[in-house]
Amino acid sequence: MPHLPGFRIVTAAVVAVWLGHGASASEPSAPRERLEIRSAAGQRTVDAAVLVEAVDGGLLVELPDERYELLQPASIAARQPLPDAPSEETSRELGQRILADLPTGFDVLVTRHYVVCFDTSRDYAKWCAALFERLHEAFGNFWSKAGLDVVDPPRPLVVVIFADRRRYEAYASRDLGAATDRVVGYYNLLTNRVTTFDLTGTDGVPRPAGQASSGTAFEILTSPAAAGLVATLVHEATHQMAFNCGMHRRLAPVPLWVSEGIATYFETPDLDNTRGWRGIGKVNRPRLDHFLATHRAGDIATLIASDERFRAAEGPLDAYAAAWSLTRHLVETRKKQFVDYLHMQAAKLPLADDSAADRRREFEASFGQSPEEIEEEVVKAMARLASQR
Ligand SMILES: [Zn+2]
Repeated sequence: MPHLPGFRIVTAAVVAVWLGHGASASEPSAPRERLEIRSAAGQRTVDAAVLVEAVDGGLLVELPDERYELLQPASIAARQPLPDAPSEETSRELGQRILADLPTGFDVLVTRHYVVCFDTSRDYAKWCAALFERLHEAFGNFWSKAGLDVVDPPRPLVVVIFADRRRYEAYASRDLGAATDRVVGYYNLLTNRVTTFDLTGTDGVPRPAGQASSGTAFEILTSPAAAGLVATLVHEATHQMAFNCGMHRRLAPVPLWVSEGIATYFETPDLDNTRGWRGIGKVNRPRLDHFLATHRAGDIATLIASDERFRAAEGPLDAYAAAWSLTRHLVETRKKQFVDYLHMQAAKLPLADDSAADRRREFEASFGQSPEEIEEEVVKAMARLASQR
């Protein structure tokens, strides 16, 4: 069984403080402003799109490098409207902007849809980028064919890959805090970036003395860490696609079972293929086995009502396994309703409110059945799937 790393979508704790403060969100074409921002570090000027304005004057803004920032009212010294059309930054310029924020030794690889910042070998970064491009295409095709309104992400998607686990952990700790040692890759909703490290080169994987990872497909895929590597990269890249193609909006109250269900639906590796991944919706054996081993009555209904099980210190992997099982079952048996449900989620605005009752009502409106009824079906369907091995 492949090593199952801890996956995570990261948001800032501060977001929770904003929820329910009567903030009003802008539609996708957010107005742009030049902002003077005061902080302990001094004053700076940024050009940003204003996404949400809170009643107390606080702002959620998107910066030119795709990062979201929450500004407290006291930190905003001046605001000035800007003409709508931003000057188009090239992928390479975006890459240079991101390098300035990374430790020394990083370089940029630009592909059709991605800006990959890496301090691994260029061949390794290229292999990863090819995997991202493949996912990008497969993801768009799959959902368009299913009838979902998805667009090509309007901006390049940024991925940061560290060669070395220790440097990754030092960098990632600002996003992940104490969880850093358990999380081998993550998508951050505020920065819009995927950050990870070369799982085949570290993590206690033996390698002949003096031999660095050269990044050939053969070397990557024969590493004992290959399955975990592919699952991590595809999982996080799927989140990033979902939040940039119109499926969900960043910081909107999209239930975690949906976003994690979709990421786990896509992540299953195929190590017989030189890219390590071929298609979508293959049976995710580790998630299936985990679900059958840990499921208790009521688990799926709880997941539909609240994200709490994903955040629990104990057994968050149980929630991921249940999210995969539920998503797999709904996509296989009710694709049209699932797409309707996704359209409902796509309409949610950043920092909007929701409640357990809202979530339950939306679910029942889309699927015409209660979470408890669907849960019963899922458990039977997963047991059948496992018996087909
Ligand atoms: Zn995830």
